[in-house]
Amino acid sequence: MGSGMGNGMGSSRWFVFLALLVLANPAARALDLTATERAWLEAALPVLQFARTEGLPLDIIVQPQPTPGVTPLGMAFVGGRCKLVLSMRGNAEAQATLDRIDRGLRNVVVEAIAAHELGHCWRHIQQRWGVLPAGLRDATAWHAVSTEHADVLRDMWRTRREEGFADLVGLAWTQLNHPARYAEVHAWHVRLRAALDLETGPHDTRAWVYLAADPSLFKAGLPLFEQVQTLWVAGILSPAVPGVPSLRSAGLAQAVADRTDAARSPLHLQD
Ligand SMILES: [Zn+2]
Repeated sequence: MGSGMGNGMGSSRWFVFLALLVLANPAARALDLTATERAWLEAALPVLQFARTEGLPLDIIVQPQPTPGVTPLGMAFVGGRCKLVLSMRGNAEAQATLDRIDRGLRNVVVEAIAAHELGHCWRHIQQRWGVLPAGLRDATAWHAVSTEHADVLRDMWRTRREEGFADLVGLAWTQLNHPARYAEVHAWHVRLRAALDLETGPHDTRAWVYLAADPSLFKAGLPLFEQVQTLWVAGILSPAVPGVPSLRSAGLAQAVADRTDAARSPLHLQD
């Protein structure tokens, strides 16, 4: 997940450009960004500037065709570069996501979302995506499931760990850049992850979000992506979190559904 572009998606159908270039360019309207796309990109600009400063190989892609049901903002990894993909046309969720955030908090949350995506990018660039922290090994044992389903569950857990890492990066970004808004952005994450239909899918990052309630646990002074390491490991090792039943239980149905969706999607997007 998160890498490779499938067949059938010709590059001629893609507009590829740097958001910084677009937003700095008075002729940006010529690129026909929608109001929703502009709102997302403008809010995410500090994160995109940070990516440039850090030298991360990041491109911005706006999918011009309707993409209903696709994550509005996702990350793909193609040819050694990260692709921040906006799938917002014909996709009501793109504007709805913004509308669900309190107006005064919107840009701060969008920054956290963009930083989450950058967390995925960083893991890919480090060639660490899916790799456990040093000293840990996957000792997961699945009982009473087929070998095929055990593989699905292992994939689900691998993805969930990465989503936990990315959520922590988004929160660490907030603590670094908007410390006065941290509690609100953290509460937004709590609500987002609590609202999942299924408690055990790959986006069930509640173990990490719970631990990040105290932002002093980020290692201030370290580079952004390294600030989250301690909390990330703690979340991986955590038993069931208070108030979060059966966090360790396996969301087999969701994992199978996600894998099926991934197989159907031409671009392996991580949201
Ligand atoms: Zn993600």
